[in-house]
Amino acid sequence: LLQLFRPLDMLGFVYRSVRQGLVDMGEMFKLMDTSVEVTDAPGAPALAVSEARITFENVVFQYDDGRTILHGLSFDVPAGSSVAIVGPSGAGKSTIARLLFRFYDPQGGRILIDGQDIAGVTQESLRAAIGIVPQDSVLFNESVGYNIAYGAGSAGDEVTETELRRAAEDAAILPFIESLPQGFDTMVGERGLKLSGGEKQRVAIARTLIKDPPILLLDEATSALDSRTEQDILSTLKRVSQRRTTIAIAHRLSTIADADKILVLDHGRLAEEGRHTELLERGGLYAEMWARQAAERDDEEDPRAQAAE
Ligand code: ADP
Ligand code: MG
Repeated sequence: LLQLFRPLDMLGFVYRSVRQGLVDMGEMFKLMDTSVEVTDAPGAPALAVSEARITFENVVFQYDDGRTILHGLSFDVPAGSSVAIVGPSGAGKSTIARLLFRFYDPQGGRILIDGQDIAGVTQESLRAAIGIVPQDSVLFNESVGYNIAYGAGSAGDEVTETELRRAAEDAAILPFIESLPQGFDTMVGERGLKLSGGEKQRVAIARTLIKDPPILLLDEATSALDSRTEQDILSTLKRVSQRRTTIAIAHRLSTIADADKILVLDHGRLAEEGRHTELLERGGLYAEMWARQAAERDDEEDPRAQAAE
């Protein structure tokens, strides 16, 4: 994961990894707005993923300031299923993602993948198993090919043109890349070609797919996009999450209504849990949030409402 890639063989599009160790790791932690607090236990084995089932067991967590953010949280993400985490801002949703990626260790309880406590396995093997698509993906001032190949990290020392193209195709960005003057070698980022929000998210998805992780973690992956682009990206994400265990953190409930299970988090506690229709019938926090967002959607999308303004 924490490696950089340089195109060594431009003709063959063979991208090789160059270990950059700590420099790159520092960048990564800066991006994730967190610090290095976690170490491998001596002799820790690698995580062995079989079906990729995730379990939170009475997880208690606080950051350095000592305020308890998660109060004994328990939930289960069955293998291959897609579970959404929703709830008010500040409820602790992203904290769950950070704990699963083990940027921090919980003060109480356990987080298990296929029955293995993630605190007892190597961080490298844990992070190789999880692909993250964040809200705002960062592109490096490098070629688009580099930006995708970067995702392979320690999972593969070499990314071939075929793999690169397949990842781009699955992320539905291959035609766009092929239309660029220099294809995969086109420079992107602040000092290169500026990509739209949707194009950036597709590069991020391709970057994740090249890693081929059994677990997908989407943290507001589409919330910075306009609603039309969001729909496009969502259908791509739905397709690529098919064979994987997926946790989707979402602000807009319409984006996760078809999840196998929805967890409603409120102040670090599980307020409700169920499928969309069950939660609506229940008439609790989820139903309330749904009604509020539906009203907002009508305001935004009804052309008569806009014309009347
Ligand atoms: P959500 O993703 O649901 O909006 P977060 O998990 O990001 O919520 O945050 C949950 C709570 O933890 C918030 O009150 C937030 O202010 C706090 N928090 C987040 N990150 C840190 C941090 N690094 N240090 C201290 N408090 C934090
Ligand atoms: Mg968040």
